[in-house]
Amino acid sequence: MLPTTPPSTIMCTPLHSAAPVAEVMVCDSRRVEDEIYPRSDAAAGCPANDRSMTSSLIVTVRGLSKSYGERVVVDSLDLDVRAGEIVGLIGANGAGKTTTVECIQGLRRPDAGVLRVLGCDPTRDAERLRPMLGSQLQDSALPDRLRVHEAVALFATERACDPADLLERFGLSARRNSAFAGLSGGERQRLFLVLALLNRPQLVILDELTQGLDPAARRGVWRAVARLREEGATVLLVTHELDEAEALCDRVIAMRDGHILDQGTPADLIDRNAGWATTRFSWDGPHNFRALPGVRDVVGEPGRLTVHGNRQSIAHVSAELARSGRVPPDLAVEMPNLEAALLHLLEGTDHREMVTI
Ligand code: ATP
Repeated sequence: MLPTTPPSTIMCTPLHSAAPVAEVMVCDSRRVEDEIYPRSDAAAGCPANDRSMTSSLIVTVRGLSKSYGERVVVDSLDLDVRAGEIVGLIGANGAGKTTTVECIQGLRRPDAGVLRVLGCDPTRDAERLRPMLGSQLQDSALPDRLRVHEAVALFATERACDPADLLERFGLSARRNSAFAGLSGGERQRLFLVLALLNRPQLVILDELTQGLDPAARRGVWRAVARLREEGATVLLVTHELDEAEALCDRVIAMRDGHILDQGTPADLIDRNAGWATTRFSWDGPHNFRALPGVRDVVGEPGRLTVHGNRQSIAHVSAELARSGRVPPDLAVEMPNLEAALLHLLEGTDHREMVTI
């Protein structure tokens, strides 16, 4: 199937997405618009790029709601993305992440809310916005017989960067003459990334960035995204790969059931939602670890101890071991990660349950 968006755009039409909507978005909240753009010209027809995007906000969403039939999948959502940030949407399946980024791109029309993306209303100004966006969406497709270099030529505009360099960056140089049908899943994914970045977009939207990629290809894509950051691009990505979010994102937004549960730097989310550490080591005989500062729990098995506590407890347990002159050779520390934080947010999972899985 040919992409339904013109080649001058950089979107590969997702199979499951509605075509970009052309109607003017009906916003139910002038109050919110005023809040974002206090100047009264905000909705008065002046060119959107002249408006007071004085802050470095690239995306501003206020009160976004979207339902499919009776079902509300995004519920009064507020979200900001600043210039040069890599922001990750993470969370449960069906949380509304893809719907949110589709609304941000003008691929879906919100039921309510005010959205500004690069100074544009994504619905009303879809045509103007599209060349400034680079999107790699879930379930994209290209015609089976289209070769890699032909796809690049088809999508390139006058702003395109050197396609050979991009193909090289994403490990596709050797496949430039291959037809789309002959590419592996990972190669297709990388080709969509190339197309998303081809025309030097100001905002890059990546949905399930590394789904289906092998570990080496995944790392390659991470490096490419990190390079985008160095080049000053702004990236909004949707991912279930929490190590990816932790490695790449300046800020993550955790969602469930159309709501934001928490947001901040990965380190902030971990601190707030998984501020614990586990220390394990071989130990026989009496001990006093339970009395150490920060220790919450000590679980003993024959010849072995597991100490749960806050992060500072690691230092106190280690100091106690050193003082005792019996530093066990198998001393191991487990630190919480973003996955632990998200599990806690989504399910209230206790850290002791997590480390015993
Ligand atoms: P996932 O992580 O599983 O990809 P998500 O957070 O991206 O999920 P969405 O794809 O936005 O969530 O979907 C939110 C909910 O809306 C899901 O329950 C999904 O089944 C439903 N949904 C999505 N698109 C449509 C549609 N076109 N028609 C009806 N329901 C839809």
